[in-house]
Amino acid sequence: MVDDFTTGPLECLFTGSIWAEGPLWVPSSRTVRWSDIPNDRILEFDPASGNTREYAVGVEFTNGRTLDADGSVVQCSHGRRRVERDAGGTVTALVDSYGGRRLNSPNDVVVARDSSIWFTDPPYGILSGTREGHEGEQEYGGCNVFRFEPATGKLTAVITDLVHPNGLAFSPDESVLYVADTAGPRNGVPLRIATYSVRGGGRSARTGTLELEDGHPADGLRVDTGGRIWTSAGPSVRIYSPSFELLGTIPVPETVSNLCFGGPDGQDLYLTATTSLYRIRTTTTDAAARTFPPNHN
Ligand code: MG
Repeated sequence: MVDDFTTGPLECLFTGSIWAEGPLWVPSSRTVRWSDIPNDRILEFDPASGNTREYAVGVEFTNGRTLDADGSVVQCSHGRRRVERDAGGTVTALVDSYGGRRLNSPNDVVVARDSSIWFTDPPYGILSGTREGHEGEQEYGGCNVFRFEPATGKLTAVITDLVHPNGLAFSPDESVLYVADTAGPRNGVPLRIATYSVRGGGRSARTGTLELEDGHPADGLRVDTGGRIWTSAGPSVRIYSPSFELLGTIPVPETVSNLCFGGPDGQDLYLTATTSLYRIRTTTTDAAARTFPPNHN
């Protein structure tokens, strides 16, 4: 039951976004940072004060973000069609092209323990009439999951058999990668979360698929230290076992896009859900949570 994994009520912390996405607990500022994509801004919630402020505006439609090993933020930008780093407010490009062709609109990103950066590249920021970027062409002709090595600049297409790969997260030992595909029936595929076994250098093979048959797409997802998958699913968060047994559902008043664990002990779950940021207390933490040197601030 969901009561096994959450201990408090769902709280609404902020309302005022158009489409909230990409939440991340930032240890250096002890804040939750997220994207309000159509308003082209990044917001930050401070749990100590309860206040939300604009962290940055005119950000070229950022979306998902994660922490790098040094505590800097790695984030996706639809408008710049790239993955970039935000180190203390200084934003620099990491990767924006594949084989000489521009990426589509990177959506979500994780950093593995070997420092490789894994990200999804669906077309949502370049579709016609988009409010989430700038209309453009799919230059390399697909929607891949990529693995990027910052040290060498090598970019590898590790998954090419999904239609609109979106949220992604590793199992605790990083032997499995979960990837949401939000393309859905109008693109000829079920809404689904696909499971890939991962080997050295990013070689990946699909080993399973969870189909979401009620029309509620999984978008962003995270994995906790017990290997459980916490995923957005329409107006709810669902918790699945590693073998996709449904363990619990958290109803939410709005459609949830994404989520992150955070707070002082990592057990607060923050949800970006359409216009709002929500929080619920849990009994677990993110499997990918990192500790930083004591002098990091
Ligand atoms: Mg997403």
